[in-house]
Amino acid sequence: MVILLHIFDPQMATIIDGKGLALTLRGKIKEEVFQYKNSGNRSPHLAAILVGDDGASKTYVNCKERDCDFVGFDSTVYRLPSETTENDLLALIKSINLNDKIDGLIVQLPLPKHMDSAKVTDSIDPKIDVDGFHTINVGRLTKNEDTYISATPFGVMMMLEEYGIETKGKHCVVIGRSNIVGRPMSILMSRGGYPGESTVTICHRHTQDLKSHTLMADIVIIAIGKPHFLRGDMIKDGAVVVDVGITRVDADNAKGYELRGDAHYDELVDKCSAITPVPGGVGPMTRYGLLHNTLKSYKRKLNL
Ligand code: NAD
Repeated sequence: MVILLHIFDPQMATIIDGKGLALTLRGKIKEEVFQYKNSGNRSPHLAAILVGDDGASKTYVNCKERDCDFVGFDSTVYRLPSETTENDLLALIKSINLNDKIDGLIVQLPLPKHMDSAKVTDSIDPKIDVDGFHTINVGRLTKNEDTYISATPFGVMMMLEEYGIETKGKHCVVIGRSNIVGRPMSILMSRGGYPGESTVTICHRHTQDLKSHTLMADIVIIAIGKPHFLRGDMIKDGAVVVDVGITRVDADNAKGYELRGDAHYDELVDKCSAITPVPGGVGPMTRYGLLHNTLKSYKRKLNL
């Protein structure tokens, strides 16, 4: 007879598998879309506008196109030259807003310097603003009303939920206060409901003695774009670490680079209770978030 002893190690971190989770969730969307189309409905349709030829932006938009294809969405990418005028871009957005067969519209950021990103974002109809960047949708998020939660914070919330990470009454330190990640993250973590109900501290480039804050955190969410910034001596035992950062650093491999997170995974993994890896953590869940929001808009439009 073999006796299996299960030794519980409180320091054994759960690796939050964003890649696997996103694959499962995307599979569910694909199945749902298949059913809708089988019942005679049109396909969900995501439109993306890419201005200029920034390498990273091109890659992101290509990924979004592939993701749409995978789940059975139609997608249209408008590739505009960098010298496009703001008025021409606004006119295109206006025409897409009026197209009843388009469920989601995103304008890939950053835009060329001669354009006002806030004005452009706010020209998208909030009903198809599946990135959730429109002022109205940000306002709704702040008031905990139904809205499109932008893809990265949405993906993080899904991960916390799917892995049953306790958030109520916990101290969450968010590092980074950008409009697309840090700030919405801080609002979501403090809101009522699950995941949420946390006590939130938001830190940024002017925060003094950041380590004194992170050492008190039950949950650290970091999005600053500084590879390996969060070190092992900056968290307490058993903390949860969500690493949003992705930076390409030169590496001696076939690609010539590797992706690095803002957290020093190797130093943290034995100390925390759960951690998201980079790559394979938040990134795939962000891509899922956009599909989720587009499907939400489609179902709303078609009363499904
Ligand atoms: P951003 O440049 O808009 O904002 C960076 C934030 O970090 C700022 O609020 C700044 O105050 C803060 N910061 C900078 N240095 C700091 C320091 N030393 N200490 C404390 N705070 C500091 O960045 P962003 O758009 O939020 O992106 C952040 C990172 O997340 C980047 O690496 C980006 O590539 C990545 N990102 C990943 C995903 C994903 O899907 N995984 C999505 C969006 C962004």
